[in-house]
Amino acid sequence: MTAEPAVGADTAPDRRRRAADGRAPRPTGPGPPPSTTMHTLRGIAVSPGIAIGPLRVIDPRGLRPSPRAVAAGAIPAELDRLDRALESARVEAEAAEAEARRRIGPQYADILAAHSRMISDPTLRRDARARIERDLVGADHAVSEVLEGHAARLAGLADSHLAARAADVRDIQQRILAQFLGPGTAAVPEGSDGPIVVLAHDLSPSETAGLDPGSVLGFATESGGLASHTSIVAAALEIPAVVGLGKALELARACRSAIVDGDEGLVVLDPDGPTLDRYRRAARERTARFAGLADLAHLPAETLDGQAVRLLGNIEFPAEVDPCLGRGASGIGLYRTEFLFLNADRPPTEDEQFAAYAAVVRSARGRPVTFRTLDLGADKLTSYRNGQPPEPNPALGLRSLRLSLRDPALFRAQLRAILRAAALGDVRVMFPLVSTMAEFRRARAILDAVAAELAAEGVEVPAGLPVGIMVEVPAAAVMADRLAGEVDFFSIGTNDLIQYTLAVDRTNETVADLYDAADPAVLRLIAMVVAAAAPRGLEVTVCGAMGGEPLYAMLLLGLGVRSLSMPPHQLPEIKRVIRATRDDRARELAAEVLGLDSAAEVAARLRRALIEALPDTPRPAPRAGPHDSSG
Ligand code: PEP
Ligand code: MG
Repeated sequence: MTAEPAVGADTAPDRRRRAADGRAPRPTGPGPPPSTTMHTLRGIAVSPGIAIGPLRVIDPRGLRPSPRAVAAGAIPAELDRLDRALESARVEAEAAEAEARRRIGPQYADILAAHSRMISDPTLRRDARARIERDLVGADHAVSEVLEGHAARLAGLADSHLAARAADVRDIQQRILAQFLGPGTAAVPEGSDGPIVVLAHDLSPSETAGLDPGSVLGFATESGGLASHTSIVAAALEIPAVVGLGKALELARACRSAIVDGDEGLVVLDPDGPTLDRYRRAARERTARFAGLADLAHLPAETLDGQAVRLLGNIEFPAEVDPCLGRGASGIGLYRTEFLFLNADRPPTEDEQFAAYAAVVRSARGRPVTFRTLDLGADKLTSYRNGQPPEPNPALGLRSLRLSLRDPALFRAQLRAILRAAALGDVRVMFPLVSTMAEFRRARAILDAVAAELAAEGVEVPAGLPVGIMVEVPAAAVMADRLAGEVDFFSIGTNDLIQYTLAVDRTNETVADLYDAADPAVLRLIAMVVAAAAPRGLEVTVCGAMGGEPLYAMLLLGLGVRSLSMPPHQLPEIKRVIRATRDDRARELAAEVLGLDSAAEVAARLRRALIEALPDTPRPAPRAGPHDSSG
């Protein structure tokens, strides 16, 4: 055990980088352990926080019943058992769906709705019955075999997105088998004696959505990746989580307790006394720190010399609006609408989109919501787009706005849904990955046409809806002075801006050390955008990870940025930095930093400035660059 626990939360690119570090999961314990030996495993940090508690290992093989011979005379009873199990599994899935709809949002509930439909599918019942009658085996084995056959066929498909559906079928299998095997055997334990830490081979999205943060302190899985549904849901529920541990269950079966360190991507099995003490202390400090920061929610986000800054939240689905507002966001600066599409087998209809968008606007209660139109492609792929040939270089391919412009029906349906939701509150529309003026004009023309069409249908569409662009391609930053004449606002997507400026794939661990927010080239582009917006009084928001990273807050202020949008858990920390900063000092700092030659010099200077302003900063970790390790 070498790593100090991190205190504080992190961001998606940050976790992605850690995913790279931990890509080769390496159990550190040699051979099967005596239960008294501590083991530290490294995986991928997907949801921040520290969980310490009794360990519950969920072994999926425990729910694969072996064939049990059934006498011919007992077949009717066995068929009856099958029907009862299917019925109770269906009822349970429907209840889980209702619960997910209430707690997380419709798109996650829809996954569970699909499960209950599959459980009620007459062919499943027919095939399982046929097996019982033909092979004279128990109903549990029969239904398990039928579903395992479907799962194996799906898993064997070349199409990776269809293959991933095997997890849904196995999820259903576990749910049905749990009905046969009695209480306490469900894949995710319910009603345990007390809160636990869960270690599983895998947790399906629906199982994760069903986790009760009151009884599951944290979880870790052998498989899984950063961008999986499971990871996204875990972060949304704010349950500390680590995935991609590699082989761990064998080792863990003999262990009684565990720590999940969702900041560093570590799992400690049977921690020894000093490690437990250290993590308990870190967890206490973390709690105290967040409690202290919670008070900040009600204080203004302004510098020591009175410069106001707008703090906004980034969300992926509707249930995240409340955590943003609760932590003091004055609105939603980035709604990544494509997450609604990633969880589905087909594009959501206009009405389905409207339902989700309306929920977001209503939850924002009059505060601004910036809808980013679809940003599919690159690493965000949907299963139903797989008819398209794979692209050799998807980050430079048909992604984002380019894709929307190629598929007007898809784009128009989304714009209609957004404009309908606009009548319910303060809505802004933002186009991602704009590379040229022509692209923006085409997108804007489609938006205007859709608004006119809705008006002709008698649908109320607010006039003068602000329409802006994400500046995340260097070309847009360079052309910002021209674009400023046509857009209503800019939002700088630093995650992509860094990738395209430095020609470094943001998801590729082999070049992760070159991906650096502190690079002077990136800073100059940001300065150009702010300068281009100023004469027209356009608002510039930074909504990439850099906007939620304490190290860069002063610099961004000094560059003239007055609006920052970030994941909800980053809000208090950024407000703390802003309230400890003098705007005039920040300007001096920015001027000084813009004259430096390298990212390393910039980062070192910013770190000094942060410690000067906030000497008690526990770990001024740079979050959007390779300096992480030195933080
Ligand atoms: C960005 O690129 O900075 C951004 C906010 O968008 P995403 O991370 O979704 O690409
Ligand atoms: Mg982007």
